[in-house]
Amino acid sequence: MNVKKETEIRKIEEGKKKVVGTICNDKDCHIHGNLKTRGRIFKGKVIRKFHKRIVIEFERMIYVRKYERYKKSKTKIHARLPVCMEEEISIGNLIKVQECRPLSKIIHFVVIGKVGEDGK
Ligand SMILES: [Zn+2]
Repeated sequence: MNVKKETEIRKIEEGKKKVVGTICNDKDCHIHGNLKTRGRIFKGKVIRKFHKRIVIEFERMIYVRKYERYKKSKTKIHARLPVCMEEEISIGNLIKVQECRPLSKIIHFVVIGKVGEDGK
């Protein structure tokens, strides 16, 4: 009887783990690690993916004083990709990044999640 119950409990616990999702040991993860996010938030399209790092690109308008008009400009941002999000984010996705402390010479943003098709 007891053995049966134990196996049942184990099964339930395993099921719970699957629901919670992968928990990473990444110390530079804003959910599981001790990385604090603050500052600006940007939305952009993933154009490149590396191990623990992605590059996003988005368009913005820049005012040109000489012509008193706006011009389109593209901005690229390198962002830290936490290990727990590595599988769900791929090239072409629309994602959100938030500013954090500088993690390296070029990385001072961290991925905070996907943006839905309706822009939320
Ligand atoms: Zn994580």
